[in-house]
Amino acid sequence: MEPSGSLTLRYAVATDVGQRRDANEDSVYTSSQLLAVADGMGGHVAGEVASSAAIAAVTELGERLGAGELDPAEALTETVTDAVQRLTDLAEEDPALLGMGTTLTAMLWDGSRFVVAHVGDSRAYRLRDGELEQITRDHTVVQELVDQGRITPEAAMTHPSRSVLTRALQSGGHADPDVFAVDVKAGDRYLICSDGLSDVVPPDVLEETLGSVTDPDAVVLHLVELANAGGGPDNITCVVADIS
Ligand code: MG
Repeated sequence: MEPSGSLTLRYAVATDVGQRRDANEDSVYTSSQLLAVADGMGGHVAGEVASSAAIAAVTELGERLGAGELDPAEALTETVTDAVQRLTDLAEEDPALLGMGTTLTAMLWDGSRFVVAHVGDSRAYRLRDGELEQITRDHTVVQELVDQGRITPEAAMTHPSRSVLTRALQSGGHADPDVFAVDVKAGDRYLICSDGLSDVVPPDVLEETLGSVTDPDAVVLHLVELANAGGGPDNITCVVADIS
């Protein structure tokens, strides 16, 4: 086990509207301690407002880090609750925003491990020793069907209902994130992405790309290119973090 504080994190981020959308409704936050992706949903500007509101809550947490000890799991849980409150407040001010929602996948780095808070179908993956593993679980109807053995993970990739969520952050809703810690080793590479990447680029291609393009700035751009080459049906956001 590495002594705490001996690991360093280097990250890169890319976000792109894709080929078929008019606006980018994904939002992203990155710092050397906190990484987060939110994918908004709702008509007109609502999706953009929703993901921005969730990331505003994350930004506030990011600004509090380093200003004293805080419990990572507690802080992330509070941040998700704060995000839902922001959505609720915004929808109360503007009824056009009622029903808007967003995913949120946030990873808080404490120097030796990540604590993850996750709601929805954005994803976090870990590449370790060349093998890619999804470390979040999609909150989707299709994931439930996979878990029940009713469809295969391959069939889930093209299932017509694959974007139907069972959990999201929504105005008037309540926060129900998965919160868990991830042990980290030197050499690990982490990816957080919206479904605009993971829906289009299959896991074996993600694994191959993350394993072969070593520079984090280059790999995030390459991932966006792959999603656009695959049709770019949705907004694409990816954050890559390398631990050394
Ligand atoms: Mg999306």
